[in-house]
Amino acid sequence: MTTGSTWHNWAGNQVARPDRVLAPRDIGELADLVRAADGEGSRVKAIGSGHSFTAIGVTDGIQVRLGRLADLLSADRSTGLVTVEAGMPLHRLNGELAERGLALRNLGDIDRQTVAGAISTGTHGTGQRLGGLAAQVRALQIVLADGSVVTCSATEHPELFSAARVGLGALGILATVTLQAEPAFALRAQERPMSLPSVLGDLDALVADNDHFEFFWFPHTDTTLTKCNNRLPARTPLQPLGRRQSFVQDELFSNGVFGLACGLGRLRPALIPRINAATAGSLGRRTYADASYKVFVSTRRVRFVEMEYGVPAEAVRAAIEGIRRVIDMHDLRVSFPVEVRFTAADDIPLSTASGRASAYLAVHMYKGQPYDTYFRAVEAVMRDLDGRPHWGKVHYQDADSLAARYPRFHEFLAVRDTVDPRGRFANAYLDRVLGAVT
Ligand SMILES: Cc1cc2nc3c(=O)[nH]c(=O)nc-3n(C[C@H](O)[C@H](O)[C@H](O)COP(=O)(O)OP(=O)(O)OC[C@H]3O[C@@H](n4cnc5c(N)ncnc54)[C@H](O)[C@@H]3O)c2cc1C
Repeated sequence: MTTGSTWHNWAGNQVARPDRVLAPRDIGELADLVRAADGEGSRVKAIGSGHSFTAIGVTDGIQVRLGRLADLLSADRSTGLVTVEAGMPLHRLNGELAERGLALRNLGDIDRQTVAGAISTGTHGTGQRLGGLAAQVRALQIVLADGSVVTCSATEHPELFSAARVGLGALGILATVTLQAEPAFALRAQERPMSLPSVLGDLDALVADNDHFEFFWFPHTDTTLTKCNNRLPARTPLQPLGRRQSFVQDELFSNGVFGLACGLGRLRPALIPRINAATAGSLGRRTYADASYKVFVSTRRVRFVEMEYGVPAEAVRAAIEGIRRVIDMHDLRVSFPVEVRFTAADDIPLSTASGRASAYLAVHMYKGQPYDTYFRAVEAVMRDLDGRPHWGKVHYQDADSLAARYPRFHEFLAVRDTVDPRGRFANAYLDRVLGAVT
């Protein structure tokens, strides 16, 4: 991720040239470096695994890496409360939890992010009755701009806790995160192709009747791949994917062959509708059962750039129709499927699901293909539907337009004014989406 003093994100569309890169060994060193930065007037930015597509983690000041603050600190099997150092990657956390008979209630598509990075941008999975990762947070230990280390929860510094669960890295550097886990569970995964009209016709039932429902619509076709993941009673025998099944799905849909198809599409965009039709035509059904964290996540080797919007759940059909219109109107060629997910409302000021049950629509473009026209046009559709952009995925909104979309936007700004009055954790992205600290 770093060449000399140059850092770039996973997708390769963001570059930073930090003045210094520091990797504290413990919370004391972390607090000292923040205090020193404040004293000398430098900006500071913690970075996770660099999986955000926006410039949210970019800094020309001090880049703080938490690779040495990445251990499990405690896990209480009776309460399910688990405290980790903030730099722990989700894939390690999932393994540690599994060893202790615990699991997170819900996860996104991948597990490469750090705990702090994932919650700070509002990372979510799918499930109408479930919130995103930040909704599973019960306490935070955070280093504020003056170097003080503050523990916050629903009962201790509740305003800070409320805002910092999806804090965009704007309020301080998270040192530890306490999450609510639960007893380990298995999921039955059922994947099958369905036509888009059938999915839209049955959508309410598909979303309500499954613990985790999502679908992928292949542009230029009427085909979707639906995924229904449901909890199994304890001690149900598992049926993990065989090597062949897992290879076919992984290679065809997500990685090797899919990557080749995207590469061909980039060279010859006119072929994309035919390539998508061939991919859609080759999708099969499969059912398997495995530990929850193995079912939730997949490997993503094909690099892309992504925009994702959360809209009120009832606007999902209009949103899909809008994306389809955009592709037709602009005569675009889009290799990547549109991913559609659902979450419950939460009570976090800057969560995309703040105060409303949400549907999420994610559009992607293969790395190296122009995405601006597609993403801007999709954004216009989502704006009309009161959409809120994922903080870690490409969007073009600013503080004025976002304030109108988040009823509790000013509550977040008030917390930031209190804990970071000199803008030590600011960067150009935060100046754009929150307004500059004055
Ligand atoms: C292939 C791929 C799949 C993805 N799948 C999903 C998905 O299923 N669902 C979803 O919602 N999103 C998804 N994302 C987006 C991703 O989850 C978010 O962008 C997430 O923030 C990345 O975590 P990270 O550790 O890489 O954080 P980074 O991108 O490195 O940082 C993100 C933000 O967190 C801040 N931060 C990091 N550490 C700290 C800390 N210790 N204290 C305070 N702030 C900190 C950074 O300053 C920055 O502002 C995906 C991204 C990719 C590339």
